[in-house]
Amino acid sequence: MRKKIVAGNWKMNKLQNEAKKLVNQVVALLQNSNLSDNKRVIFSPPSIYLEGVSLITNKEAFIHSCSQNIYSENSGAYTGELSAEMIKSVGCEYTLVGHSERRALFYETDIILAKKVSSALMQGVTPIFCCGELLAERNSKKHYDIIKAQIEGGLFHLTEDEFSNIIIAYEPVWAIGTGKTASSNQAQEMHAFIRGLVTAKYGNITSDNLTILYGGSCNPANAAELFSCPDVDGGLIGGASLVAEDFVKIIAAL
Ligand code: PEP
Repeated sequence: MRKKIVAGNWKMNKLQNEAKKLVNQVVALLQNSNLSDNKRVIFSPPSIYLEGVSLITNKEAFIHSCSQNIYSENSGAYTGELSAEMIKSVGCEYTLVGHSERRALFYETDIILAKKVSSALMQGVTPIFCCGELLAERNSKKHYDIIKAQIEGGLFHLTEDEFSNIIIAYEPVWAIGTGKTASSNQAQEMHAFIRGLVTAKYGNITSDNLTILYGGSCNPANAAELFSCPDVDGGLIGGASLVAEDFVKIIAAL
């Protein structure tokens, strides 16, 4: 059965004491929640806090930590980078790959992202693979082509077995940090399209088990409607994950 997940991407926010406070607040607020093996919460803090956050989340059965990025190699002369093997060594089991900010600001191409995905899987780290179109691409009706190219380029080199360990996050770039959420119809249509691509490549069982998260200005007021769509299995949350009460309200909408 596919997992329902709410993941919080803190981006480059919070100082060390604030990060610790936020994760502790959320964990405390979730003590009597309905989390289960099938409903999970993930924190994606800046990498400098990954070990500290993992020490807290690893005491909780259904709460996990996630890197915001990895490099595709395990070790070597790659100044400033960190590998899947390294994040795993501090207790982290997930990594974002291909967030739109990485694609746009750090020029990450599908070829680079495909290597990162493979490197994560090789180390037993679950990639949360992000895809999404720009507003101009949606307005010119190219959004399905863009998403298809991103998914084929970043993920379709995987075997069926490898692909069964992937999570996808659909994040329309025009909705990220803008306050303009995709409508539930827009989200459902694209999630169903993505699931269809996966069915065509890997078959029904793999696509039925695939968790597809929605990201882009998701907040406590719109989460329940978005999460009620049949192909939306939770959310990747930016801004609203920085406030414990808001993040917990979104989790409650799962
Ligand atoms: C994100 O950065 O992944 C994101 C979804 O941000 P926000 O929720 O702030 O739009």
